[in-house]
Amino acid sequence: MRLMMTAALSAFVACGMNAADFNENFCDSTLRIDYIFGGGPDGIKLMMESQSKQSGWAGRRTRLNEVPVAGNGTIIVTDPQTGDTLYRNPFSSLFQEWIYTPEAKEKNMGFENSFLVPLPKREADITVSLRGNRHEEIGRIVHRYRPDDELVALRGMNPIAHTYLHKGGDPKDAIDIAFLAEGYRAEEMDTFIKKAKIIADEILSYEPFASNKEKFNVVAVMTPSNESGVSVPLKQQWKDTAFESHFSTFYSSRYLTTPRVWKLHRSLEGIPYEHVLVLVNTPEYGGGGIHNCYQIATSDHKLTLPVAVHEFGHSFGGLADEYFYTEEEDDTYPLDIEPWQENITTLVDFDTKWKDLLTPGVEIPTPWVDKGGKREDRMKNAEEEDRNKEVVVGVFEGGGYKSKGVYRPVETCRMRDNHNPTFCPVCERAISRVIEFYTGK
Ligand SMILES: [Zn+2]
Repeated sequence: MRLMMTAALSAFVACGMNAADFNENFCDSTLRIDYIFGGGPDGIKLMMESQSKQSGWAGRRTRLNEVPVAGNGTIIVTDPQTGDTLYRNPFSSLFQEWIYTPEAKEKNMGFENSFLVPLPKREADITVSLRGNRHEEIGRIVHRYRPDDELVALRGMNPIAHTYLHKGGDPKDAIDIAFLAEGYRAEEMDTFIKKAKIIADEILSYEPFASNKEKFNVVAVMTPSNESGVSVPLKQQWKDTAFESHFSTFYSSRYLTTPRVWKLHRSLEGIPYEHVLVLVNTPEYGGGGIHNCYQIATSDHKLTLPVAVHEFGHSFGGLADEYFYTEEEDDTYPLDIEPWQENITTLVDFDTKWKDLLTPGVEIPTPWVDKGGKREDRMKNAEEEDRNKEVVVGVFEGGGYKSKGVYRPVETCRMRDNHNPTFCPVCERAISRVIEFYTGK
């Protein structure tokens, strides 16, 4: 009895301290900061464009100075008096992908980014730091937030029409995902809501989301476009859509992104949200997921559902791609650096990865046979075989876009194949940890 009381008391004290940290330093409101990440041959420069605040904070209120994964970048709120970190969160950005493209060697370009932090009660320093492929800092901006700054705009009084597709709990406690309509005219909103619901249900049907449904809210925000569809630069089809999304990002025909990130966030003012999913009205294949930035999905391709789940693995879970190319050289993950993503390894520091989940007695690296053939055929074969055999967790060579030197945990996973019906045990655990981090008490 005495032991139990002690445990209960310490739990109360720990909980009380956490709550006090949030209430001590932050209002129950959100500060959004809009940035330009610019760079090219002249170097990298991050610039703040504007700040705005709105009532309500949908993010976490505990473990404020920790991060669940390292990420490619971090936003940090510090107390200028003490230097203490009051809040931090990891992210990735399209800019950090672009900076390694051939185009970035030729011209300087700027990319929009927006981040949300809880609204500080007092003056606070806000730092944004970007890291490169070798985890080195490649860009940084520090600016001071002042509560009496009249140019911090007050927003959120007139939210755009929205409807909940799934309600798990209070936005204060749950993880809030917002779907935005892209390429749907006002009269097509019923279709948008129907498609968004199908995708949300699909994501929440996968483990570990399925057993944590009550920790998620999903809202569909009816952002109208003047035209239906999406821009396809290769065909010189340019559409007047809400967020000007287009294929051919970085001249890669399938890569669909939106350049209007500030507008994504403007469209969500007054609605509690932490994760943004842009649903694009097109039967084309494509999409993308940028960690704690946004996810973009197409609505009507036959692989829409598995791709949306895969991309959510990136944007929510911070997972890496487990597929690879056999010919292309890609230096996203240098072989002498251990990636921070939990589902790939270069074996530089495997002890920090899934060693404890390995199937007993498995060889490292784990032998496997690449059946080759068309990618589509191989995926189908993998799916059929997977139904009939135990999942072996090992260290399989090929992952993170490289066929040699980067390793993945299983032969097939949702982060590798569009036909695999589940996330692998390592990805599942990584996602579970993120869910717990953002909803922990
Ligand atoms: Zn996996």
